[in-house]
Amino acid sequence: MKAQISHGTLGRILLFFSFLLQTVNAADEANLIFVNGNIHTGSERQRHAEAVAVKGQRIVFVGSNEDAKNFRGNETRIVDLGGKTVVPGLTDSHCHIFGIGEREMNLNLEGTNTREDFLAKVKARVTQTSPGKWITGRGWIETFWKPPRFPTQQDLDSIAPDNPAFLTRADGHAAIANSSALKIAKIDKNTPNPFGGEILKDKATGEPTGMLLDSAQDLVAKNIPKPTETEREQAFLLGVNREIQLGWCEIQNAGSYADDIKIIRKCFNEGKVKLRFINAVYGPGEDAQRFLKEGAAINNDDHHFTQRTLKVIFDGALGSRGAALLKPYSDAPETFGYLTEKPEELKPMFEEALRRGIQVETHAIGDRANRVILDLYEQAFNAVPPEQRKICEPRWRVEHAQIVDPADLPRFARLGVIPSMQPSHAISDLFFAPARLGMDRLANAYAWQSLIKSGCIVPGGSDAPVERGEPMIEFYAAISRKSVKGFSGEGWHPEQAVSREQALKMFTIWPAYAAFEENDKGSIEVGKLADFTVLSRDIMKIPDPEILKTHAEMTVISGEVVFEDRQSNRFDGTQAHLE
Ligand SMILES: [Zn+2]
Repeated sequence: MKAQISHGTLGRILLFFSFLLQTVNAADEANLIFVNGNIHTGSERQRHAEAVAVKGQRIVFVGSNEDAKNFRGNETRIVDLGGKTVVPGLTDSHCHIFGIGEREMNLNLEGTNTREDFLAKVKARVTQTSPGKWITGRGWIETFWKPPRFPTQQDLDSIAPDNPAFLTRADGHAAIANSSALKIAKIDKNTPNPFGGEILKDKATGEPTGMLLDSAQDLVAKNIPKPTETEREQAFLLGVNREIQLGWCEIQNAGSYADDIKIIRKCFNEGKVKLRFINAVYGPGEDAQRFLKEGAAINNDDHHFTQRTLKVIFDGALGSRGAALLKPYSDAPETFGYLTEKPEELKPMFEEALRRGIQVETHAIGDRANRVILDLYEQAFNAVPPEQRKICEPRWRVEHAQIVDPADLPRFARLGVIPSMQPSHAISDLFFAPARLGMDRLANAYAWQSLIKSGCIVPGGSDAPVERGEPMIEFYAAISRKSVKGFSGEGWHPEQAVSREQALKMFTIWPAYAAFEENDKGSIEVGKLADFTVLSRDIMKIPDPEILKTHAEMTVISGEVVFEDRQSNRFDGTQAHLE
């Protein structure tokens, strides 16, 4: 059959060959030129372009195919994008890289849509495991089960009578243990709740149900043999590679301990990590104290590694009713949730952070946690005025900011506090949030558009492994505010969805700003670092559901193509250059 070539395609091919014939003097010579792209630059000055030229790690030209010729030299690699869409390098503003890798390595319970499914998957693992060995895994969510009730230790005992089992809910804020695991942890009807957590107990018998919330999980978790350092490193690198293949150019890792940091730094030193990495250190505690003393590490490894942030976890999650609310849960009037740190104990650390130029980011989901953390930030800002700070504009963040009382909403912009939010949380949580919160409180839940209108930027993240961690799911969730199947229920507040331009900012320039990097990253402009994500479809134009069918075709970091979807083999430019 004869190939059909449209005029457009023919024009492009001719242009491409004319491109190869021209040369410029060495001073202007780019290493890499991308042509024939549908490039959304993310820059207000020049929103759209056909070509980008890169020299070293930075962008030297953005504009037309024709003008890009001025940067071509003998050594220049030309990549013909064939009309593909390019966006500024995507950033996941909140995820947990070790958890992402471990999810790949361990028993993955995501997508277990019924209690039977869940138990069957665990049972399959039990049959491959020798008696007495721990069964661990993560990813179940009971809110999709019918009835949507937590599993019990008896459920697990029936399939795992001879192994201790400990299976973490997708959100990481709750886990189910069987009786053998509870016994090892010495948890019985008389064990009191630890601070910042809860041992769920049967209302009739007083016996533990097996469900452990937030800090109560540690009672069991500390008995599980730790993975070796080699396994941890393997998890980290698995996570990093997964991110690059999904089209992420940077991740902002929402918390790490000294052991993690050791592995991260080792992998960077050995040249094993191409992903850009913004790291946070968990506090309060020893690691945080050491970090405050040693200070930030900024733009190490050629702008690939920065650590300038302290991460605090201030309450639980909504699904397991650990999020700290101002008023009781609508479906459990006996509880308000709880704070997981004592406010008074955070004060000295916050003031010290301001003096030392350390950014603070705090997990706050419930409206009480959000109010109290804004209070604490405000008190610290007042106690340490700008002239006593190492960085006068601190850009402190609240991670999640899921339920915010209307009285507190304007305080974010007023204090310059950044709400860092996860679109996919809304489309997962809105299935059960109406029950937990009631209709009234939903008006101020996952309120992206209200926060933007109040003058905030809203960096977007996935919180993987809590969610899948895929950029196209996040982008789709942000603009549609519907489940991946297109569902939207009562109380989902479609008016809080964002425009495509805003969604692009959530994963590009806003995270760059939230990491003090807006001069180097976040848009395709001359002088910035050459980070791009090449996509299979134009996400700024296609119908919403097609966004979910879009994938990364190429990930470019620092002017280096670090991932290429080789199956598609659509980048004729590389071929042409070799001839
Ligand atoms: Zn998180």
